[in-house]
Amino acid sequence: MEYAGNLFVVAAPSGAGKSSLVKALLELDARLAVSVSHTTRAPRGQEQHGREYWFVDNPTFDAMVARGDFYEWAQVHGNRYGTSRQAIEARLQAGEDVVLEIDFQGALQIKQLFAQAVLIFILPPSWEELRQRLQRRGEDSPEVIEQRMANARVEVAQARQFDYIVVNALFETALFDLKTIVHAQRLKYLAQRRSRPAVFGALQLN
Ligand code: 5GP
Repeated sequence: MEYAGNLFVVAAPSGAGKSSLVKALLELDARLAVSVSHTTRAPRGQEQHGREYWFVDNPTFDAMVARGDFYEWAQVHGNRYGTSRQAIEARLQAGEDVVLEIDFQGALQIKQLFAQAVLIFILPPSWEELRQRLQRRGEDSPEVIEQRMANARVEVAQARQFDYIVVNALFETALFDLKTIVHAQRLKYLAQRRSRPAVFGALQLN
């Protein structure tokens, strides 16, 4: 499928800093919008329906799968998550840029559907640092942390399939890397033709 907007897909193991980086990226770049996924998991903390996620029950998720409402969906840590067509289609058609913050399985499904999607994988600088970040977060029991570490090894093994790798050793450096990827994408021929029609017209370029 071809759309006018750029589609960025960011994946990472939990604890690598994906959510904070994407949040900071969105604050810096008004032209980027994040896609709000559907999930069967319960809201955590201050999360709001329609802001972080559309929180739905299993039958509703099943019905959406059956209707073909999702571009991709996956089971992650025991819950299901999906990107609905509704969440991104209109924006992309209107030429807006969209970020998907999803797991690696979903990212690879998106690449099958949208060959031009830009897949970005965020790596922690080391296994030890990842474990320490999960511990410092203080959200999980030692058993859950070990489970997340085991999952992280499976996820990181997929990094080769992504277009870009950002190592989140230093937050500001990783954020700069993300901004650079977004910027470079907007400098590609087709993206420039869309955003600078007057120049392309004047130069008789198509
Ligand atoms: P959390 O429950 O911590 O918000 O998210 C758990 C994992 O599910 C994260 O890796 C997150 O990126 C991923 N995730 C969130 N939304 C989607 C989605 O729509 N599709 C897929 N495949 N993964 C998602």
